[in-house]
Amino acid sequence: MLRNAALTLLVLIAAAIIAVLAILPGYFEAQMNVVEEHEPYAISVDAQRLHDSLIIGDLHSDTLLWHRDVLAHARRGHVDLPRLEQGNVALQLFTAVTKSPEGQNYEENAGDTDRITALVMLQRWPVRTWASLYERAAYQAQRLHRAAERSQGRLRVVRTQSELADILEARSRGQRVTAALLGTEGSHALDGDLANIQNLFNGGYRVMGLHHFFDNELGGSLHGLTKEGLNDFGRAAVTEMLRLGVIIDVAHSSEATVDDVLAMTDRPVIVSHTGVYGECESARNISDNHMRRIAAEGGLIGIGYWEGAICDISPEGVVRSIRYAIDLVGAEHVALGSDYDGTTTVTFDTSELAVLTQTMLDQGFTEAEIRAVMGENAANFFLEYLPN
Ligand SMILES: [Zn+2]
Repeated sequence: MLRNAALTLLVLIAAAIIAVLAILPGYFEAQMNVVEEHEPYAISVDAQRLHDSLIIGDLHSDTLLWHRDVLAHARRGHVDLPRLEQGNVALQLFTAVTKSPEGQNYEENAGDTDRITALVMLQRWPVRTWASLYERAAYQAQRLHRAAERSQGRLRVVRTQSELADILEARSRGQRVTAALLGTEGSHALDGDLANIQNLFNGGYRVMGLHHFFDNELGGSLHGLTKEGLNDFGRAAVTEMLRLGVIIDVAHSSEATVDDVLAMTDRPVIVSHTGVYGECESARNISDNHMRRIAAEGGLIGIGYWEGAICDISPEGVVRSIRYAIDLVGAEHVALGSDYDGTTTVTFDTSELAVLTQTMLDQGFTEAEIRAVMGENAANFFLEYLPN
């Protein structure tokens, strides 16, 4: 009798642990990727009509890190395929986060701790991802490819100019299809091995960020301890990326690293997600000087929607930073760089992007400026700089 009771208790405890483990990943994400509560945004008929005619592109979303199906409409986070479709998004860059230090801040982080390890274990990712940052990036690519395969043509992973051109052409004929591109958030995902650039490329990665919040094998992060530029390994990595035609993303890199990259190539780089220091004096943000130099090479600057980037997360606040960037470098170099699902708090998710079109109209933006910033720049950039 007593033995039966003990057994029942054990089964109950085991069931409770399993239930908690199943719920925890979603619970954590709901705390970290937040949309501030708000009334539905009022979108005028004209704004909606213009929005529906745009090619919309976003340069940065960390959605693949989280424990949910990108094809399913989630009640948490910022991006999934149904919400991309509602927002009329043509092109989404999915970026792979592979390591993030404890106590992460914009000023100074060491690289000796990592919160992602606990997350990937809790989310029951394959054991090979537990100790390898490369495997974490490879696995996120695999998740996107599998989602695309299951999507019945609604989501396609783009590797070449012609694949993107095909999707844009299909969309112009009214077909419901969204282009997904793969990018890394920091080249610690190479695990210190140059051969992994080719391996990630083979896995579909076409954009590679050099840094995240800490100095890595390539050199200094904007938020690291040294603020140094590229070291020998970093130069070799950039050289290999350029050889393969990988687009380099200098978001999160130190100013010295950005200088070094710009000195190494005339090929344009992107800043996938940032704010602009001239409008919002945050240690996270890019200087006028670097914006001008990146634009002069034909690069793109993606403006984010979170407080550390724009100081004011209302749609008006986002648009204020976009205006500043346009006035500084010209509309053809400004893009959207949401940092959706990047442990950010925002005031609209990707399904609600029409509020940006509305707000830009309200602020007197020209239709050409709106078209450019909302995604034509991003589409044109990838049509020109993806491999053939
Ligand atoms: Zn980031």
